[in-house]
Amino acid sequence: MGIRPKLIIVLLALGFGPVFLLGAFLYRESVRAVEADLDTRVGHDATDIAIEIDAALRQRETSLENLARSPALRKYVSNKEEPTRPLRERKTKDSNPDLSEDETKRALPAEVRESVRAFLLSNPDRHAYITCLDTTGKPLFRTEPVRRAGGVSDKPNNVDVEFKTENFLSSTVNADSRVWNTAEQTPLRSPISSNANGVMLRYTIPVFEADAYAQSPRGVLIAELNGNVLFDEAMTGRTNEVGDPGGASSSYSSQNFVIMLDHDGRILYHTNEALRHRQIESVMPAFKDIAGAMKAGQSGTKPYDTEDSKWLVAYRPVTTLRTSVAVAGNYTQATSRLKRLGLVAFTLLTVFGLGTLLVFTHILRNTARSIERVTEGAVAIAGGKLEQRIEVRSNDETRLLAESFNIMTDRLREQIAHETESRQFESFMRLSAMLTHDLKNAIAGLSLLVENIERQFHREEFRADAMKSLTEATDKLRRLVAKLSEPAQSLSSEHEIAREADLVPLIKKALRLTVEPAGDLHEVVVHLPEVLAATVEPDRIEKVFENLIMNALEAMGVKSGKLTIDAGHTSHGEVFIGVSDTGPGMSDEFQRVKLFRAFATTKKTGIGLGLYTCREIVQAHGGHIEVESRRGSGATFRVVLPSRPKITKSQ
Ligand code: ADP
Repeated sequence: MGIRPKLIIVLLALGFGPVFLLGAFLYRESVRAVEADLDTRVGHDATDIAIEIDAALRQRETSLENLARSPALRKYVSNKEEPTRPLRERKTKDSNPDLSEDETKRALPAEVRESVRAFLLSNPDRHAYITCLDTTGKPLFRTEPVRRAGGVSDKPNNVDVEFKTENFLSSTVNADSRVWNTAEQTPLRSPISSNANGVMLRYTIPVFEADAYAQSPRGVLIAELNGNVLFDEAMTGRTNEVGDPGGASSSYSSQNFVIMLDHDGRILYHTNEALRHRQIESVMPAFKDIAGAMKAGQSGTKPYDTEDSKWLVAYRPVTTLRTSVAVAGNYTQATSRLKRLGLVAFTLLTVFGLGTLLVFTHILRNTARSIERVTEGAVAIAGGKLEQRIEVRSNDETRLLAESFNIMTDRLREQIAHETESRQFESFMRLSAMLTHDLKNAIAGLSLLVENIERQFHREEFRADAMKSLTEATDKLRRLVAKLSEPAQSLSSEHEIAREADLVPLIKKALRLTVEPAGDLHEVVVHLPEVLAATVEPDRIEKVFENLIMNALEAMGVKSGKLTIDAGHTSHGEVFIGVSDTGPGMSDEFQRVKLFRAFATTKKTGIGLGLYTCREIVQAHGGHIEVESRRGSGATFRVVLPSRPKITKSQ
């Protein structure tokens, strides 16, 4: 796999993957938090509404109790009573009332009217009717708040109180029968009732003559309260959270709704007014489960699904009224903002991720192209195309690489050119050194000859040999001059073709060129076989012998010594030619460190290329040179050649 797919996978796995996972995790946790918050809110709201209803009921009961204790009303009902008559008699009589209507009207004193009016006006919405009965159950008066439409009025909220002491049906208002047997002032609550007009709560409150004589009531007050107002008041404290503060008159809230059910499944209150006073099963069939739990007086939280929303419903019993209240929070709406945000975040993340990926891929592609270009250039340079230049285009990191490669190539080219020059110069130096060496040898031979001419010129034999030596020396010098005229050729192709040759004449020729000019200064011992055949380049091998003999003679110098030349076959069938002298020999260290090295010489006028060249030539013939020498006791150089060697081209 290439670097690009790898980097993209790494970017996806380590860059975007965790970000997406983290986003998903945070989203899930946020939804859960919203869910938990909604759960808590609806639970608190349901509990609070139940508490508020209880509190509102207690408040109403207390104010009704206070009204029943008012002195005017007590006095009024006491005066209506005939305490001497037994109860049974009174009831018989009351079933056929003989009091005239005028009498009754006259009997309702102004202070009674005032205290009842004040009571009703203090909270005109709460009470529908208040009816007063005497102990016989005969209605004394009935009152209700009346709303006036417009007009100037000194009454608050344009509400007045209307008293009726005649023309009202007593049968519609029956007192709770328990009231006759109570000695307590406490209002007695009748079961809650509802009809198309609304929910009604009825209280029967005994009116005693006075606290001290609270034996049996002298009359009763029957108060009919508006249940809707009661519920609305209870909701008002909560509605900021659970719905529209308008409560009963509010429209249906899309975020929350509140339901009150009695234990028969009748809707006493619903945020949506259209659903009030109907059976829950008929209008909200999916609410069945929750309605069942509410009817059973349980409390809890359950989900409720409608066509377009999911809801979370918390329900609590309102024990005093034998009803149950439920608060529903819109789960779909609570999480919708979060879901929208999540979707936006996910889209942004995806767009951003794709954008990053595109930019990243683009940069990668450009970098990869640059690297490919540099690689191609580097491969070409490695293949020897040093003139190749890498095109420097991009501004990325490969620019420096390409520039470095170009600089490197330039330097390499310069270095190679320099090395070529050095090699040529070195070859030239080597050639001139060799020529110098050969010239030196020739001059040495000639000067020895010159020295001996004076002494031995009279000898016929010497003159003949001298002539031969002179001719050979002249030939040699001519060859040297020829080499000088073609130095390049001399360097590369100074070798002749190897051939089967007899080494004995070559050795003799070398001896003639070197030993004979020296005359009789040294004892010369020569042990040569008749024939010594080997495959050699004769001229070069002859030069080796010449060099070795010359070195031996130079080592012995002007002191007379013994030069021994022997040749033959080794036990391995190789050819050997030995040159021994009785000169000063060489130290072990010299032999180890310097011998056969180019330019290693101990002589004042030496060049140090003789032995180096000898070894090169012998090795080119597949042979080697052995040395035996000790300081102060001469030296022996042995050239060992294979009898039929393969000549390898060298130098
Ligand atoms: P050159 O003769 O120019 O010095 P050579 O390569 O022929 O160069 O010899 C290198 C050195 O080896 C000589 O200078 C000398 O010190 C030593 N050497 C060569 N042959 C002998 C020998 N037969 N006896 C003692 N030393 C020798």
